[in-house]
Amino acid sequence: MPQPQSFPLRRIRVAAVRRVTPRMIRVTFGGEDLSGLLLAGPDQQVKLYFPRPYGRSEPVLPAPDPDGDVMRWYAAYGGIPEAERPWMRSYTLRSHDPAEATVDIDFFVHGEAAEAGEGGPYGPATRWALGARPGDTLGMFGPSAYFAKPVVLGAAEWTLLVADGCSLPALATIVEALPPGHRALAFVQVPDAAEEQPLETAGELTVHWLHGNASVVDAVRESALPSGAPYAWLGSEAGAVRALRRHLVEDRGYDRRAVDFAGYWRRRLTQDDAPTPEDLAEARERLEEAGGGTGA
Ligand SMILES: Cc1cc2nc3c(=O)[nH]c(=O)nc-3n(C[C@H](O)[C@H](O)[C@H](O)COP(=O)(O)OP(=O)(O)OC[C@H]3O[C@@H](n4cnc5c(N)ncnc54)[C@H](O)[C@@H]3O)c2cc1C
Repeated sequence: MPQPQSFPLRRIRVAAVRRVTPRMIRVTFGGEDLSGLLLAGPDQQVKLYFPRPYGRSEPVLPAPDPDGDVMRWYAAYGGIPEAERPWMRSYTLRSHDPAEATVDIDFFVHGEAAEAGEGGPYGPATRWALGARPGDTLGMFGPSAYFAKPVVLGAAEWTLLVADGCSLPALATIVEALPPGHRALAFVQVPDAAEEQPLETAGELTVHWLHGNASVVDAVRESALPSGAPYAWLGSEAGAVRALRRHLVEDRGYDRRAVDFAGYWRRRLTQDDAPTPEDLAEARERLEEAGGGTGA
């Protein structure tokens, strides 16, 4: 699939699969152009396209737009009949090895799905990861400035990080990029102690691991956070990150521009479901901030 270099769509092929923890599946992909992949920093998100219907070994996607027009390509993707349109899900590049021309992506097998057992009611991305074998192929759009906001590290006096299982890969890339000695405090919610991972960093990182249904919002609310100007990165369930951001801005008086937040998933909704009124309000607020407005 030859393509203009500016059009960031690739096929990626499974080279290896292993479990980092019982619920974290690390898939190493090789594929087109991966040695030359340029990462603009940590927290590089991509859109993955999964074969549909189940059983197909690779997704059928429109060819890259010859003029590099992403919206036109996306319209062609949306025009594929739903029963055959590859599922699109957001994931994070956990690491990139230019010498081997590979990337690693960590797939978290989230709560109910893991308890349901193999063949249970998984979303398509999780179901794919559970069955991934060398040679299986996905489409990958990105990394791209179209949807990745750069993470600014080291400018603040300290950094607050909040994650759950599915945002732990992104958090891990961020702590790996912390400047030496930079103070950081992380709250990470995982199902149990078996999901805790060693996190490599040059920073001075303290991690509070929360298990099961412990509320990360309550944990942050109840903590005596360090003084000084913070940078906060919040990645978790959409309602939880909204509540946390409100707490940090309204109760703690943090500068809203220093609080990055992203809903990584929505309770009882798939990534195919339409945005809720809260999602739309959040998108409007982001646009206002990007345009230099004051936000809500
Ligand atoms: C920018 C970004 C980066 C991401 N990076 C990663 C990553 O590197 N690794 C990773 O594992 N995930 C990552 N995610 C989260 C991932 O995209 C979602 O979990 C996604 O919904 C999984 O797709 P699915 O097909 O398995 O489930 P879907 O079909 O989307 O959803 C099926 C059901 O599962 C529930 N569900 C979905 N995700 C979760 C969850 N995490 N916990 C509990 N219930 C859930 C939904 O509410 C729904 O009821 C990222 C999300 C974003 C926005």
